[in-house]
Amino acid sequence: MPSRTPYIAANWKMNKTVAEAAEFVDTLLPRIAATQSDVVICPPFTALTAVVERRYGTAVKVAAQNMHEEESGAFTGEVSASMLVELDVEATLLGHSERRQHFGETDEALARKVPAALAAGLEPILCVGESEEARDAGETEEVLERQLQADLASLESGQLAQVVIAYEPIWAIGTGRTATPEQAQEVCAFIRDVVRMRGAAADELRVLYGGSVKPDNGGELLGKPDIDGALVGGASLDAADFAAIVEAA
Ligand code: PEP
Repeated sequence: MPSRTPYIAANWKMNKTVAEAAEFVDTLLPRIAATQSDVVICPPFTALTAVVERRYGTAVKVAAQNMHEEESGAFTGEVSASMLVELDVEATLLGHSERRQHFGETDEALARKVPAALAAGLEPILCVGESEEARDAGETEEVLERQLQADLASLESGQLAQVVIAYEPIWAIGTGRTATPEQAQEVCAFIRDVVRMRGAAADELRVLYGGSVKPDNGGELLGKPDIDGALVGGASLDAADFAAIVEAA
C-alpha cells in the first residue's frame, strides 16, 4: 500500500483579522519546522494574502474556505478558482457542513465546483458528513455514499485521488463531541471503499477526520489506518494547539 503523507488542515471559519492571521503564522512556523506532513491553513478570504506571503519557503499550503464554480460573471459576493490561484492559493474547502446548512450549498453545485477547482489547479478538500439524526437512524453510510456519488459525479476515475475528502460528522463539529477513533476509522475506510468502487487509486486518496479534534485526541485519531489527517476548526485558532496536532500526525 503506498504511504500517504499526513494532511492537517486548519479551518479558521470567520475568524482572524489580517493582523491576527500574520501573528498566528509567525508563531506556528517555527513550531512545525520539522514536520513531514502537509499543513494547510484555510483563512477567510481577507487574510489569504497575509498567510500566503508569510508561508513562502515553508511546507505550509493555503486554502480558501469556498469558491464559486463559474469563472466570472454576475455572482455578487463570490470568488472564482482563478482568482484564488492568482493569489497563490493552492487548495479550497468545498461543501463544509456550515455552508451546506447556512448558505444552501447543494450537491449539484459541488458537482461543478470540484472539477472547476481541479481544472484551475486547486486541490479540493471535499467535506462530507451525516447529521445526528441520520447516525441514530443507522443511515450514516447511505448519506455519505449519496454525497460522494453526487459531489464527485463529474470526475473521471483517474481524478478522484486528487481530491482530499474530509469526513466531518455534523454532530461532532464545534460541539466538543468527537467521533471515537473506531467510529471515525470505520467511516473513513467506507469512504475509501466508495471511491475505490468508482475505479480510483483509492490507496492514494487522503481521507481526513474533522469534528472537535484537539491536541489530546489528535494522536489516537491519526493513528488509525484509514485516517490520513485532520480538518481542525476551533483548535486551529490557537497556534500552539494546532502545532501540537501537527506534531501528533
Ligand atoms: C470544522 O469546522 O471543520 C471543524 C471540524 O470544527 P471543530 O474542530 O471546531 O469541530
